[in-house]
Amino acid sequence: MMEIIASLRRELDGFGENLVLIGADALRERHPGEHPDNFGAGVMAQPATPEAAAAVVRWCATHGVPVVPQGGRTGLVGGGVSRPGELILSTGRLTRIEAIDPLARTAVVEAGVTLQALQEAAAAFGLVPGIDLAARGSATIGGMIATNAGGILAFRNGVMRHQVLGLEAVMPDGSLYSDLTQVVKVSAGPDIKQLLIGSEGAFGFVTRAVLKLDRFNPMRATALVGLPDAAAALSIIGHFRSNTSVELEGAELMWWPFLRDSATERGFALDWLEAGTPAVLLLEISAASEAEARETLEDGLATLWNDLRLSGATLAASLDQSRRFWALREESDFIYRFAPAAPSFDISVPPGLLDTYVAALLGRLKAADPAFDAYVYGHAADGNLHLSVTGPGSAEPERRDAIEDAVYGGIAELGGSFSAEHGVGQEKRRAYLTYGNAARRAAAGAVKAALDPQDLFNRGKAPYRGA
Ligand SMILES: Cc1cc2nc3c(=O)[nH]c(=O)nc-3n(C[C@H](O)[C@H](O)[C@H](O)COP(=O)(O)OP(=O)(O)OC[C@H]3O[C@@H](n4cnc5c(N)ncnc54)[C@H](O)[C@@H]3O)c2cc1C
Repeated sequence: MMEIIASLRRELDGFGENLVLIGADALRERHPGEHPDNFGAGVMAQPATPEAAAAVVRWCATHGVPVVPQGGRTGLVGGGVSRPGELILSTGRLTRIEAIDPLARTAVVEAGVTLQALQEAAAAFGLVPGIDLAARGSATIGGMIATNAGGILAFRNGVMRHQVLGLEAVMPDGSLYSDLTQVVKVSAGPDIKQLLIGSEGAFGFVTRAVLKLDRFNPMRATALVGLPDAAAALSIIGHFRSNTSVELEGAELMWWPFLRDSATERGFALDWLEAGTPAVLLLEISAASEAEARETLEDGLATLWNDLRLSGATLAASLDQSRRFWALREESDFIYRFAPAAPSFDISVPPGLLDTYVAALLGRLKAADPAFDAYVYGHAADGNLHLSVTGPGSAEPERRDAIEDAVYGGIAELGGSFSAEHGVGQEKRRAYLTYGNAARRAAAGAVKAALDPQDLFNRGKAPYRGA
C-alpha cells in the first residue's frame, strides 16, 4: 500500500491539490459504508478533476494495479469491496454541481454529487432529479449511474439510465470518454454511454453526467392502507394513475412481518389496522393543492374500500407525519438488529405477478426449512421487491444456495430479474451465473474484454471472465 502511494506521489506530483491520496491509517478513521471490506485496499485516490482521475487510471494500467471505483459506499451487493494491492478510486472530491438549466430541465454534475445535494440544488428551481431512493444523503450520482439505480419513482420516470443524457468517464486504458450531450434526441450511432450505465464500475470510472430533471409538486397527501394482497395495491395504483388531476408520487408495499417490526422499532401505532392484515401500501399523490390531494385520496380509497377488501387506512395530517410514514418503509436498518446477517435480495417480477411470486417464494422457503420466513417489501408499482430471509441458520453459508434457489427460482420464467436495482457486485456472483440471462452474460463478457483487457476495473466482482 505504501509503495502504491509513494509511486503515485512521485509520478503524479504535478496534480498537486487536485489529487489527494489517503492511506490505511486515515481510512480506518472513516466509515466504510454498507460493506465492512470497502476499505480493504487500504489506499484511496481522490481526484478533484477528470484529468487527475484519468492520470491515476493510466498509472494503474501501466503498473497493473486493479481499480475499485467508489462513490457514497451505500451499495448493497459488495460492489465497492476492495482488497490489498488494489486502489480505491473515489469521487469524494468530484462534488461540483456545474449547471442547472430550469428551462431545459437539465443538470450537469460531477459524479461525486450526492442525490440529496442535487435534490436541494434543483429544489431552488422547483425541480427534482426524477429518481429518488432512501440512501439519498450518501448515494452519489456516479454510483447511481454505475448501478443503474431505480428507487421510488422508477414506475413513472424509469431508472437511472433513462435520466442520463450525457456522460463522461475514464476508461480502463486511462482515456477520457466525453459525451456530455444535453439533448434527449440523439440518433447518431450506438449510444456508448449506455454500456457504462449499470456496469457497476467494471467498464470505467464515471466523472460527470448530464441528467434530466423533473417538476416537483409539494402539494401532497400521504396514506397507509391495509390490503389483502398486492393485487389490491395495484388496483389502487391503477385508480390514481388514471385520474388526470393527480399524480402518483409513491407506492411502496410492505408485507406484515416487515411492517410489524418496523412499527415496533419506531413505536408507530397500528391501531387503525385490522388484525391479520397481510400487507400495507404507503401511497402518496400530488395535486393542484394539498386539500385537493387529500380529498382525492380519501374519496378514491372510499370508492375502492369494499371491492378491494381494504382493512384500515390512515392519512398523514402533517408533513412531519408523512415523514414518519415514509420512515416506516425507508429506514429498514431494524432488519439487521432483528435478524443480523439475514441474507437480503432485490428481485423484480411483472407487477401483476407479485402475489404469485410471493406465495411461491414462501412455499419454497418453507419447503427448504419450515422455520424460514421473509421480510418482504418494495416498490409495488414496478414489481421490485426487497427480501430478507429470516429463521434459524438463514445466515449460514452452507444454507445460502438453498435460500438463493428459493428466492430466484422461476423469476426469469415470470419475466423478471434476479437483481432489480442493486447490481451484481460480489454478493450475486452465483446468481449472475445461475439465474442471469446467458446471451446477456456473453455480450457483457465480450465488452469487458474489449474495454478492459487487463481486467483492472472491479476485478472479481460480476464474473465477466469465463462467463
Ligand atoms: C438505505 C438504502 C436504501 C437504498 N435504496 C435503494 C433504492 O431504492 N434503489 C436503488 O436502486 N438502490 C438503493 N440502494 C442501494 C444504493 O444506494 C445504490 O446502489 C446507489 O446507487 C449506490 O451509490 P453509491 O454512490 O453509494 O455507490 P457505491 O456504493 O460507492 O458503489 C456502488 C457500485 O458502483 C461503482 N461506482 C461507484 N461510483 C462509481 C463511479 N463514479 N464510476 C463507476 N463506478 C462507480 C462501485 O464500484 C460499486 O460497484 C439503497 C441503499 C441503502 C443503504
